[in-house]
Amino acid sequence: MTDMTDILILGGGPAGLTAALYAARAGKSVIVCEKEGFGGQITQAHQVDNLPGLPGISGLELGDKLCSQAMDAGVQTAFCEVVGIHHHIDGTFYVETDDGPMNARTVIFAGGAKPRMLGVAREEDLIGSGISYCALCDGAFFQNQDVAVIGGGNTAFSDALVLAGICRSVTIVHRRDSFRAEEAVVQAVKNTPNIKLMTPYTVSELVGEEQVEGIVLNDGTTVPVQAVFVALGRVPDCSLIETLVDLDEAGYVIASESCMTKTPGLFVAGDCRQKTIRQLTTAMADGTVAAMAACEFLK
Ligand SMILES: Cc1cc2nc3c(=O)[nH]c(=O)nc-3n(C[C@H](O)[C@H](O)[C@H](O)COP(=O)(O)OP(=O)(O)OC[C@H]3O[C@@H](n4cnc5c(N)ncnc54)[C@H](O)[C@@H]3O)c2cc1C
Repeated sequence: MTDMTDILILGGGPAGLTAALYAARAGKSVIVCEKEGFGGQITQAHQVDNLPGLPGISGLELGDKLCSQAMDAGVQTAFCEVVGIHHHIDGTFYVETDDGPMNARTVIFAGGAKPRMLGVAREEDLIGSGISYCALCDGAFFQNQDVAVIGGGNTAFSDALVLAGICRSVTIVHRRDSFRAEEAVVQAVKNTPNIKLMTPYTVSELVGEEQVEGIVLNDGTTVPVQAVFVALGRVPDCSLIETLVDLDEAGYVIASESCMTKTPGLFVAGDCRQKTIRQLTTAMADGTVAAMAACEFLK
């Protein structure tokens, strides 16, 4: 496929598919390249309860709806991995994929970010069955139950405080005796009666076949819990465009309010962009802004 596309979107998650919908409805030719599965990370969510207007929708159904709505609007989808993005001297982009090259006038990079995994056996199998990377999203499913949070940074401690208001008990497991979390948050955690700190420990095993029933720590102690919230940070992979954009210390793309990067015609949207809240609503908002900015750029 070597024709010139108006807007090529890397990533078929909520940001990329929202951008695609807006761009196609604005009359542009749009291709979305997705390497794993259209819908992005939300397809791992058992149920989504904080997307306004669609309470209780499953992550899979949401992913399907986002994709089919974009396709109905005229978006072309390509199930392929983007492996290279080059900016020509004439301002266009040459995009290499594992299914051949593509040319585009503009590119929206919406490759997302992945939570850093705990790294224990069967972790992936139990995602949605007690393993979660988002306390804000999934905490409410474990009302009055016992849960664990793994990590020692601000996210882990804030997650523990959120969960302490919902769950019967929260056990924070951290591999060191000191914490990266701010002192005020650490104190708030220490003052919360249903939060217990276990340090310095690591998780060596998950208990439970179909559903998490507990964790085994490195000293052999079993802690019975119904959910494990992994809060070890997130990892964006923006290496494909690292020479075309500015990245912050954590590897997220720095972009303007219009989601434009320092390379004219290259936009960024969703979880891979530097920002404070990474949720569906913010990914979709970025997709909208990036698509409209790309349309404006094409003028
Ligand atoms: C289990 C779970 C539950 C969640 N629950 C909620 C919730 O209830 N509410 C909420 O608001 N948020 C929730 N989130 C967060 C939400 O899913 C993300 O904020 C959102 O998906 C970000 O969208 P995105 O499009 O930026 O990135 P992603 O969804 O990560 O999509 C990026 C896509 O890009 C693709 N990609 C990456 N690199 C390439 C490449 N080189 N070539 C081709 N394709 C590529 C990836 O395969 C992926 O599909 C949850 C996340 C998880 C993991």
